[in-house]
Amino acid sequence: MLNGELGNSLLHSTFIIQHSSFNIHHSTFIIDSKMNCTKCKTKAVIGLPRHNAAFCKGCFNGFVHDQVARAIKSEKMFGKDDRILVAVSGGKDSLALWDILLKLGYRADALYVHLGIGAYSEQSHAKVLKFAEAAAASHRAKLHLHTVEQEAGAGIKELAQLIHRPTCSTCGTIKRYQFNRVAIEQHYDVMATGHNLDDEAARLLGNVLHWQEEYLDKQGPSLPASVEGFAKKVKPLYRLSERELAAYAVLNRIDYIVEECPMAKGSKMLQYKEVLNRLETESPGTKQTFYWGFLEKQRKKQPTATTMTEKDRAVLHPCASCSQPTTAEVCSYCKMMARAKTHAS
Ligand code: SF4
Ligand code: ZN
Repeated sequence: MLNGELGNSLLHSTFIIQHSSFNIHHSTFIIDSKMNCTKCKTKAVIGLPRHNAAFCKGCFNGFVHDQVARAIKSEKMFGKDDRILVAVSGGKDSLALWDILLKLGYRADALYVHLGIGAYSEQSHAKVLKFAEAAAASHRAKLHLHTVEQEAGAGIKELAQLIHRPTCSTCGTIKRYQFNRVAIEQHYDVMATGHNLDDEAARLLGNVLHWQEEYLDKQGPSLPASVEGFAKKVKPLYRLSERELAAYAVLNRIDYIVEECPMAKGSKMLQYKEVLNRLETESPGTKQTFYWGFLEKQRKKQPTATTMTEKDRAVLHPCASCSQPTTAEVCSYCKMMARAKTHAS
């Protein structure tokens, strides 16, 4: 694949790095060595049409770090003394996020949820372990692990079949629950996920297409810890595109899992991403205008954090079984586990 080829490839004139199985075109980046770095005028390794700029490796890393620092500051995500729990999947975004936060001097540990999806989970777990050992250990960062099979008695696919629910919604419930649980139990101040500009723009498109207004309120890059038992959640990569993060991972030799989760095939999110990529190719900056424009409008509707907290407090209370906040008597995770046990016995 591409990681080992990087050193030589960067010296070639024009080339394309492809690194994804079925969503190739939106994770493809073209490096044209005829361009010079906008900042230092040496040979550029990546062009960024939406910023009308091109960067060499050093200046590109500076640009990425700066975008993350701006996101953290403008959305008041966390400070240097806060303990951060990064949700890592073994993919480029979450590993890049962990790498960037550590390099920016933050106290960031990570949690990997082993979903039990055959070779995909084995490979992604191996990538996370490798990163944790090599990079995170030098910053004294810690990796937490949760294995779905250990707690539920089956991997995510089997579990979903057992309880007659779609795999991705089962997975979403488990991941949300476990990340929140570890963040609360281990006293982290904030939980960070690797959602990038493409993810957020695609999600926004989906919410707007279906006029899911209640979801729009929660689409910001920083969600407060509204009630006791709910960790604060932030998305420090929302200013960076998928292509920029792939370039960052490659240039910094972060060994990530290239394949998407096999369950994502044909998902609505991938369709929305493809549509947005077509628009982006025609008019660079479309995704940024779309998502950042939405955030701008949300900000004017202030005070969102307070309203959200009030709304949450009105409807949430501790789950009768596990005490995590829920709108029902028993939370969806506990219901799911109870159903799995009934069906398995
Ligand atoms: Fe989970 Fe579905 Fe995402 Fe795979 S594609 S990680 S099953 S939510
Ligand atoms: Zn519960």
